[in-house]
Amino acid sequence: MISAVGDRTTELMKLYDPWLWAYYNQIQLVGAQFQLDGHEFQVRPMSIRPPVKVIRKATQMAFTESEVLNCIHGLITGYYPVGIYYLFPNQGKVNDFSASRFNPLISRNPESIAAFVKDTNRANLKNIGSGFIYFRSGRLAQSIQGGIMKSSGSLKGDPCDHAVMDEYDEMIPCDQVDDYVDSRLAHSTIKTKVYLANPTLPDYGICSKFDISDQEYWHIKCRHCGKYSCLDDEDHPQAFPECLHTLSSGEVIRACFHCGRALDPRFGEWIAKRPDVGGVMGFTISQLNAVWIDPKTILDKWNHPHTNRANFYRLVLGRGYIEAENRLSISEVLACCGWDGIQSESKIPCTMGVDQGGGERDLLHVVIGQKHPVKAGKIVHLGVYKGWTELDRLMDLFRVSRCVIDGLPNQEAARSFAKRFPGRVFLSYFNKHQRGSYKWDEREHTVVSNRTEALDASHKEISGRDVLLPRRCDIIEDAFAPHCTAIAKRLEEDEETGSKEYVYIRLNKKDHFRFAFNYESMARNGEPAWLFRES
Ligand SMILES: [Zn+2]
Repeated sequence: MISAVGDRTTELMKLYDPWLWAYYNQIQLVGAQFQLDGHEFQVRPMSIRPPVKVIRKATQMAFTESEVLNCIHGLITGYYPVGIYYLFPNQGKVNDFSASRFNPLISRNPESIAAFVKDTNRANLKNIGSGFIYFRSGRLAQSIQGGIMKSSGSLKGDPCDHAVMDEYDEMIPCDQVDDYVDSRLAHSTIKTKVYLANPTLPDYGICSKFDISDQEYWHIKCRHCGKYSCLDDEDHPQAFPECLHTLSSGEVIRACFHCGRALDPRFGEWIAKRPDVGGVMGFTISQLNAVWIDPKTILDKWNHPHTNRANFYRLVLGRGYIEAENRLSISEVLACCGWDGIQSESKIPCTMGVDQGGGERDLLHVVIGQKHPVKAGKIVHLGVYKGWTELDRLMDLFRVSRCVIDGLPNQEAARSFAKRFPGRVFLSYFNKHQRGSYKWDEREHTVVSNRTEALDASHKEISGRDVLLPRRCDIIEDAFAPHCTAIAKRLEEDEETGSKEYVYIRLNKKDHFRFAFNYESMARNGEPAWLFRES
């Protein structure tokens, strides 16, 4: 009688909890059986279905398996009645996953999974229970160089209840994937999302999602003193690498912050740094918590001179990392500030850069500068203006000899502004095939440049303190400097050609003044000597 009640309880719990379902059904994964031992940290993230779940992780922590099982369980039990989008960054990864991970999961679990899969001939679409799981590429075909985004056909599609974005940071551009997924979820009553990735850059992708979550860390309970230590807490002085102690025997242990004795990561629990945040639950975990990885190998790797620091942070520690030279810092920007205030006019001819406001269509960010006898340039004015006639006024007040403005999004207004000042205003377009000097076209009122090269040049003016900014004031500290830190350079692979090249990407921040400054720098440096100007 008691066992019958026990069985009934277990059955009910299996129905509601994906982790218990996988555990009691002894799900066979590729190469291993689904298990608890050593994977205790998996239980909570796998069991819950909050509106948004974020997993910022090291590699090899088996979160893809647990999210896939969560999806399958939800389809079998009818929790997700319509369907699920499971997105990878590109079609190659979708195909690999389908063939090497998902199909074996079905064939190895005939009773618990295969029995619920209805025949679907298409490799990347499976009918499970009453709903479908679609494996798709999250890549939206785009031309970041040209500034024009077009969505690819592969993501057009059906409504769904739940979406998983796996390897989120590799989806380009990931914020547009969000828009796409939200539109697919719009009519569902469930509407849940999971973001999953090895982090790349701070303030970007999975890191920016984790930052707005409740930020749960794995805290290990010491079996000697009973207190907790969190090896992944980047704010704690005793966290990595201090937490790894080498004993006289040569063995390396994960040391308790309180008594120094060895910790066992299996005895832990998730504790939120921001427990008051609701709706977005975030988990972060490093390989330090994987019992199957000897901490000595981690420490040796850390200490090895040839170890790639960026990859170590991202793949072993599960943290974002950026080389200092690939992103401007606030202090680098402020170090360029001089003592002059912001001018409201100039008798000396100036150059002007204008960035259109993106979402806020008629907002214009303006940077005005001039040549400097010692440095590459001096910025004399910064401002945010509403309305295109303001630009005409600034052209006169600052005797602007050359102005560069981005051609998009409001191309018509930019073009008529350029026509009012023939030979002096140029619409900027980027072309990744352009190399070397910028291509100015007075007849078309355009300037074409390589985006990475142009941004490199203006980046160097600030990092090399080769440009003089006005003295520190609100607009510099609250807008210009933060905007300058909003883009970062990273190596990206061209999906069509396979070639790798550096690209500046926008982080989770506004970047208008960074581009206005870039355009001003282009105008200032691109201007030919007056003597050689064609008449
Ligand atoms: Zn202890």
